Amino acid sequence: MKLYPLFADLSGRQVLVVGGGVVGERKAASLLEAGARVAVGAPDLTPALLGWAGEGRVQWLRGTFDEAWLDGAWLVMAATADAALHQRIAALAQARRLFVNVVDDAEQSSFHVPAVIDRDPVTIAISSGGHAPMLARLLRERLEVLIDPVVGSLATLLARMRQRIRAQVPDLALRRRFYERLLNGPVQSLLRRGQWALAEASTERLLDATEAKATGSVVLVGAGPGDPGLLTLRGLRALNEADVILHDRLVSVEVLALARRDAERIEVAKQAGNHHTTQAQIHALMLQHAAAGRRVVRLKGGDPFVFGRGGEELEFLRSHGIPFEVVPGITAALACAAYAGVPLTHREHAQSVRLVTAHCRNSIDTLDWQALAQERQTLAVYMGTGELPVIQQQLLAHGRAAGTPFALVENGSRPEQRVVTGTLADMVEQATLHDVRSPALLIIGEVASLASTLSWFGSRPVGMLAVAPPVSKAVAA
Ligand code: SAH
Repeated sequence: MKLYPLFADLSGRQVLVVGGGVVGERKAASLLEAGARVAVGAPDLTPALLGWAGEGRVQWLRGTFDEAWLDGAWLVMAATADAALHQRIAALAQARRLFVNVVDDAEQSSFHVPAVIDRDPVTIAISSGGHAPMLARLLRERLEVLIDPVVGSLATLLARMRQRIRAQVPDLALRRRFYERLLNGPVQSLLRRGQWALAEASTERLLDATEAKATGSVVLVGAGPGDPGLLTLRGLRALNEADVILHDRLVSVEVLALARRDAERIEVAKQAGNHHTTQAQIHALMLQHAAAGRRVVRLKGGDPFVFGRGGEELEFLRSHGIPFEVVPGITAALACAAYAGVPLTHREHAQSVRLVTAHCRNSIDTLDWQALAQERQTLAVYMGTGELPVIQQQLLAHGRAAGTPFALVENGSRPEQRVVTGTLADMVEQATLHDVRSPALLIIGEVASLASTLSWFGSRPVGMLAVAPPVSKAVAA
């Protein structure tokens, strides 16, 4: 941010507008709306400005620019067609420490006028720092549609009740909850219908029902694979309501950036080989914060119930009487498949899909390799990058064809996504050659060859099947 945003109270304060054309008129109009005392300096005025001058609403400084016009002004706006004059005004204003806005000239301006969404008394202002005013205007148009006109009435109602709300709910966290409930309740629709008394009564009822002490809770939220567009709306809402966010390392910074600004963020990265202790610490953290009345979001990569230990965490919370909710997320298998152009099932190639984890020898040894090696099914292997040789060897030993295609998707759905393809026979070799690192998801099965033709996101797949013949031939091969 190069500009410091601020809202100025101009009521009764003098502002000078140099220029009596249509731009000057527009500036004068918005300044008048804010209650400023407007002086317009120009040899001629538009009919509207002339009318306002006649009514005494603006003061007309008739003639060419005179430095004395700056006397007594709090702000200056230069809106003529004369670049040299603009430069002079900017320099004089600067010397007097007067903030100046020069129309269409970000360089000369010491303040900018943003694009505005007006829901009096709520004002939303957008600035592109003078770099792309058209973009700011387009954003304004979009927001105009999104921000309910009733927001202004709501703010007026709340201003009237502010003292009472503060007195009755002194605790800040609780007050925030009261406002959230208010926004989700009927008060807006009552205001939209103009039913002020009912809106006020409904707000009072909610106020009386707000508990004296905050109760804590935990929401287990699936953050998806990385692309923030893959977070659910419910997940987003939970992130906006959270007091504390306990997140895994797998959660992308883009997703975290969507969370409430003043929420406390705690990374609870799990070190390989050290699962047990840190899982216990995660439990302790959830308990500690929830018991203190905070709303905790336990944010996990992908889906919390797919290789995410979400089940254990809920059992723990339940045993301690902490209320919880679960918001599913898009698990790595679904996301990586979609973003690599690999349909997990396909009428011609695979009738079932299995989600498997292979993060250590123990878990690998308990897998049913006989079943996993069957044809016409897709395996989505999580945490498998370290165990590729065992996976390859076991599948081959249990009869899966050496020509079975695979796709390794590294950093699925993220800008740096890579896809390495090949066959079971050369899987280890290809992964080593391309130095595939965690997080990566391994897809094995006939469908994996489709990555070469259906790839649409990020860089093209690399590896043995990267330039494949047409789909039908590739699969038959
Ligand atoms: N609960 C998560 C999985 C956690 S296990 C989910 O539902 O997705 C961690 C493993 O998930 C990683 O080792 C990797 O195999 C996979 N994974 C998670 N995010 C990924 C991503 N963006 N790209 C590729 N693999 C990913």
